[in-house]
Amino acid sequence: MHPIIIIGSGMAAYTLAREFRKLDKETALTIITADDGDAYSKPMLSTALAQNKAPDQLVNAKVESMREQLNAQILSNQQVLAIDAAAKQLQLQDQTLSYSKLILALGADPVRAQLAGDAADAVMSINDLTDYARFRAAIVNAKRVAILGGGLIGCEFANDLAAAGFHVEIVHPQAYPLERLLPEAAAIALRDGLAGLGVVWHLQRMAVAVDHHGDDLVVSLNDGSTVAADAVLSAIGLRPRTQLAQHAGIHTGRGIRVNRQLQTNVPDVYAIGDCAEVEGHVLPYVLPLMAQARALAATLSGTPTNVAYPAMPVVVKTPACPIALAAPSVPDSASWTVDCQEDGICALYQDANGQLLGFALTGKATQQRQALAKQLPPILTMQ
Ligand SMILES: Cc1cc2nc3c(=O)[nH]c(=O)nc-3n(C[C@H](O)[C@H](O)[C@H](O)COP(=O)(O)OP(=O)(O)OC[C@H]3O[C@@H](n4cnc5c(N)ncnc54)[C@H](O)[C@@H]3O)c2cc1C
Repeated sequence: MHPIIIIGSGMAAYTLAREFRKLDKETALTIITADDGDAYSKPMLSTALAQNKAPDQLVNAKVESMREQLNAQILSNQQVLAIDAAAKQLQLQDQTLSYSKLILALGADPVRAQLAGDAADAVMSINDLTDYARFRAAIVNAKRVAILGGGLIGCEFANDLAAAGFHVEIVHPQAYPLERLLPEAAAIALRDGLAGLGVVWHLQRMAVAVDHHGDDLVVSLNDGSTVAADAVLSAIGLRPRTQLAQHAGIHTGRGIRVNRQLQTNVPDVYAIGDCAEVEGHVLPYVLPLMAQARALAATLSGTPTNVAYPAMPVVVKTPACPIALAAPSVPDSASWTVDCQEDGICALYQDANGQLLGFALTGKATQQRQALAKQLPPILTMQ
């Protein structure tokens, strides 16, 4: 019998492997990863600089320990180049491996900004521990960091870098940060909270080029203005890794398309985590991948199980203006009711019947997130 193979060693892959081992201690399990296979918590990447954490300090378990814990073969620093779904085989650089079942836990790639200029290649992004190590090394003697993108990850890094003593400037194309997730009042509170730390905003502007100018990196914006920095961090979004699947005839949309049992259209091939699109939902967060991992572990060990998604609020790690939000999965005719108090904002997204569909909380109001989450309809029921 060929092993179950998981591609990836991020939180989705390792959570699945752990959940599977709770139910099945024996079936051969192989994990193939382009990383070194050390287990770490990715959300820590955007709070680690202010704590002066070295990359090694973010590792929860070394790959050797993961092999032991999971009773799994882990092939690290190995890229899967192709999937032959008909033969149920994977092509690596110098070997071919057969699988009984295959799980794609491939994650997502940072979207690259389309930039002109002789320093466009110097723009960095942080999406894994290696990126974090590279960025941290690049800012050893730096004082100023320009961030492209005022979304969730851009704002978290802005807060972390400002708290670590850097001068931070954010270039963001919209009028407010997180404009698609927050009502205006909450977005303004976030903008002002970060400004209070010294963060300079360049709103409704786009970066068009990055050039070397002496020792500086100069970011040119589309209104003709410039931002001088020692390092430039791009946080303009993530795109699920779908290419490997696509080339194997696996259906993809925004992510790798799967049903509620996390199955692709190809027999015995599944997808979870940031790369997966579960019945139209791409939710690149920890809680969804944990729900997926539990359901898929049960399915792989013989009990076909649908994934269920309750409402899953997201906490934005910006201590300058703490935020908890639950974005409505299908924006409709509902509207925001915003209650602004001195110590926080409570914004509720409700339909005409008063049914709560989403919320955005800042400051002290974030304490209400669990209670409010209970009133939200589930995102996916088990059916
Ligand atoms: C800075 C930051 C902060 C975040 N903060 C939060 C937060 O506070 N709360 C929250 O809920 N979520 C947060 N998220 C999102 C959350 O971390 C992700 O949803 C989650 O870590 C994704 O895990 P994953 O296993 O799907 O992907 P990844 O961790 O990206 O893992 C993908 C794996 O696939 C491997 N791989 C890909 N292609 C191949 C190939 N061809 N061959 C071999 N291996 C391959 C990679 O090497 C990697 O091991 C944050 C994300 C970032 C970037």
